[in-house]
Amino acid sequence: ADGAHVPALVIGTGYGGSVAALRLAQAGVDVHMIEMGMAWDTPSSDGKIFCNTLQPDNRSYWLRTRTKAPLNYFLGFPIDRDITRYTGVLDAEEFSGITVYQGRGVGGGSLVNGGMAVTPKRENFAAILPSVNPAEMYDTYYPRANSGLGVGTVDPAWFDSTDCYQYARVGRKHAQRSGFPFTFVPDVYDWDYMKQEAAGTVTKSALAGEILYGNNYGKKSLQKTYLARAAATGRVTVSPLHRVASVVPASGGAYTVTIEQLNTSGDTTATKTVTADRVFFAAGSVGTSKLLVRLKATGALPNLNGEIGKGWGDNGNVMCGRANHLWDPTGSLQSSIPCSGIDNWAAGGAFAEIAPLPTGIETFASFYLSITKNPNRAQFTWNAATGKVELNWQTAWKQPAIDMAKTIFDKINAKEGTIYRTDLFGLYKIWGDHLTYHPLGGAVLNKATDNYGRLTAYPGLYVIDGALIPGNTSVNPFVTITALAERNIEKIIATDL
Ligand code: FAD
Repeated sequence: ADGAHVPALVIGTGYGGSVAALRLAQAGVDVHMIEMGMAWDTPSSDGKIFCNTLQPDNRSYWLRTRTKAPLNYFLGFPIDRDITRYTGVLDAEEFSGITVYQGRGVGGGSLVNGGMAVTPKRENFAAILPSVNPAEMYDTYYPRANSGLGVGTVDPAWFDSTDCYQYARVGRKHAQRSGFPFTFVPDVYDWDYMKQEAAGTVTKSALAGEILYGNNYGKKSLQKTYLARAAATGRVTVSPLHRVASVVPASGGAYTVTIEQLNTSGDTTATKTVTADRVFFAAGSVGTSKLLVRLKATGALPNLNGEIGKGWGDNGNVMCGRANHLWDPTGSLQSSIPCSGIDNWAAGGAFAEIAPLPTGIETFASFYLSITKNPNRAQFTWNAATGKVELNWQTAWKQPAIDMAKTIFDKINAKEGTIYRTDLFGLYKIWGDHLTYHPLGGAVLNKATDNYGRLTAYPGLYVIDGALIPGNTSVNPFVTITALAERNIEKIIATDL
């Protein structure tokens, strides 16, 4: 409530924020979480909380009047459609050189993501978080994160027999025939539920193409894991449709946090202030970076150091499709939850997830989201003239990612006698190189913060989300974000409270 004093305020309810809230509450601290998106706990008139990927309505996008699907063409035709402006679940945030997709709502990215829960190979960890001791991560915090998130792996025997993973088996066959290692990828989707979907005994979600705008069943989003446990402590309150606008030092070492209440059209309906002894920035890589860059530049938190806004990367994301032969169909029924990948990280700098194209019809396409070792890093800066934070990423900076992805797919195409699809991202456009699902960095650990996420110029301010990670995790990022948050909050609780 307006004027309240809270011991701990958490900005954002994604992975970092949920870990912070749970562990602080378990340590006896009352926590108030502020989330700009909706609660996503109430069905609409169609009986569903989330809308289907194939039928996007107002629930799909954050404050847009037209959808902006990542895969925006099919057979060369644009597939976006008009929608009513609403505080929908997926934000396609446009910067000059890249569109950054993010979840909006209680649960953050866990509401919209594919649930792929991948722990990086230990040999790659030093390049991911150079200042963090790998032993503590692999012995303690990765296992803690995997257990807290409810990570599991597809039953390989079922994988081999079910119609809904024919596309992944085709992907495996092509990878292996070209000599690439194929790996199963763990996921937080409830695999038993998916088997029941395939058997026709429960309401379908993954097998009905639900994913990008939320899964109504089956996926263990943060609402079902960390946030449910946090709520059960009785110490955590969440304010959805509230956006943090400012954090400034108050007397006695506390902070005054200004919060805007939003309606579902995105208008500010009220402005409130809360005093907080501690503030955890968990608004995601982009959200936290935008806040900190603006607060530093506008004099609210002038002593934040010069690393704020730097070290942002796209996790090397790039998408592509391959056109298969007519004798190699990928299936009209495709589980929207990916469960496998092609690992060419060591040799070619690419880890490609074998992704679905759940259109409901046979597409004869294999589709991939590659995570690559793209070395390019961008910076967020404050533009006083426009009053906006900008990101200087340039379209051409995706070229190393494309080159790395080609180490896999040029070889597969040569072996199979196939070609790239040119109809999925425009007419005659092969690469989905205009976007990322995996924003990372902007308030990098041990640079913008100390080695535990403390903004040391301001005791009591912390960063605890993907902004800490310097641009790349070699695999899908949320397990690493969660594990790092577990590590940092344990230290903060032990030494700062
Ligand atoms: P987030 O989860 O982004 O949470 C930040 C929260 O803060 C959001 O809810 C946001 O609304 C809120 N917020 C922002 N600004 C403010 C503010 N000023 N005031 C109040 N609240 C604010 N990763 C994987 O590991 N595996 C996958 O399979 C995968 N698939 C993905 C698919 C898609 C379509 C997308 C978009 C992402 C995917 N990701 C995946 C990435 C993953 O979801 C993110 O890396 C992760 O959610 C980041 O966690 P976070 O805690 O840093 O922030």
